[in-house]
Amino acid sequence: MDIIDAHLHFAAEAYFDRIALAAGHENNAPHLQAAYREYGIVGGVAMGGNCPPSLEKGAYPPFLKYCLGLDEATLRNPTPELPFIARHLAKKECLGLKLYPGYIPFYIYDDFMAPIYELAAACDKPVAVHTGLTASGEGFLKYCHPRIMDEAATKFPKVRFVMCHLGEPWFEDAVAVLEKNHNVSADLSGILEGKIPDMAAFLRQKRFYVEQMQGWLAYLDDYSRLMFGTDWPLANLQDYIEFTKAVIPEEHWPAVFADNAERIYRCGFTVTKEEQT
Ligand SMILES: [Zn+2]
Repeated sequence: MDIIDAHLHFAAEAYFDRIALAAGHENNAPHLQAAYREYGIVGGVAMGGNCPPSLEKGAYPPFLKYCLGLDEATLRNPTPELPFIARHLAKKECLGLKLYPGYIPFYIYDDFMAPIYELAAACDKPVAVHTGLTASGEGFLKYCHPRIMDEAATKFPKVRFVMCHLGEPWFEDAVAVLEKNHNVSADLSGILEGKIPDMAAFLRQKRFYVEQMQGWLAYLDDYSRLMFGTDWPLANLQDYIEFTKAVIPEEHWPAVFADNAERIYRCGFTVTKEEQT
């Protein structure tokens, strides 16, 4: 089975080097490419750092495409940056935009976001949004609770939103938003961290959490809007595949592991459909 990693981070930063080692990886392109090959991952969607990223310098290797990350200054005053954002969105490697509420104190449904959403909708490229717990203790969860996406998705119905991390751990709220708003899909990244020494023991210990996730996804019963993602270098790739297989019913693996990402992000990665093992 070919896999698309619909959410990872790729940047030469000491922090990423450290967390990659903790997850049993190395934070560099040759290692990532080799690990992707080993696990049948045909490509990944790198969630951009703060805008403007150094893409002109060729920061991303060919097996990665990206969502352009928008920083606070750009969000507060988007108009002067619109040509820059439009230039990125016109590239085939740029699959969408990435917003960081919680890390940045703003509500994604605020009116000042309108020009950015209009541009994304005009280019028909999705807007990926961090939802759920933040990696650091400095942000405010009120900005990244999955319910924030309801107002944004309703107010800006032409925008295709991606709820990153399925709003973890607020799966009930995340699923309510997904059920109501068909312009919202979600990725399942950001749930694991580091290397899991014993997945069976992990799943036992987190049973309540995993059952909540499975239960609400079964309630939603729409696996066409869920995408596998690893949040690499935060988590071990093999662990993440194993965990996702444990959570998602097997008949939906081809959709969740690759087809949905290909359709939603239009990644352009070559997916071998006939292999379903
Ligand atoms: Zn992430």
